[in-house]
Amino acid sequence: MSDKLPDLIDPLLFAERRSILSGAIKVAALGRLSDLVLADDGEVKVEVLFAKQGKQALISGSIKATLVLECQSCLQALSWPIDLSFKLGVVSSLQEAEKLEVDCEPLLFDGEKVSLNELIEDEILLALPDYPKHGYDCIPRRSSTDAEFDGESRTKTNNPFSVLAKLKKTGE
Ligand SMILES: [Zn+2]
Repeated sequence: MSDKLPDLIDPLLFAERRSILSGAIKVAALGRLSDLVLADDGEVKVEVLFAKQGKQALISGSIKATLVLECQSCLQALSWPIDLSFKLGVVSSLQEAEKLEVDCEPLLFDGEKVSLNELIEDEILLALPDYPKHGYDCIPRRSSTDAEFDGESRTKTNNPFSVLAKLKKTGE
């Protein structure tokens, strides 16, 4: 199977033919995505299946990639695996979109060709978190001065109780 994916496609024609596309798209070819990543030399592995359910043209597929994002806590590189699947119903109006099954997102198609790259890019961008962060505490621990301050305040909060206890004893 060819690794080269077509960019502009006619989704209705592909659905009619029940085409299957499988291949890779370079991250660098996805303009909006490559602006977001720290390294755009990777690839996005894509498999797209076109089908028809009655008259409804459907596009489903999977996207796999490992992107290098910038951690929003420490600003260092963050390896971010993408493994998502999507299902789109090709529609020409909002009324048609409302009839789609709940697990199916509408793809508005006006007869012009659809960019497969943009479609894939949209799905990836939707799946990316607004503030990607390492899954562990990646910022260096606070300085020892902070730790001392913490210790001090804990002693202070304990004090009122011991004072109360003393008062109680003297009151009896
Ligand atoms: Zn981090």
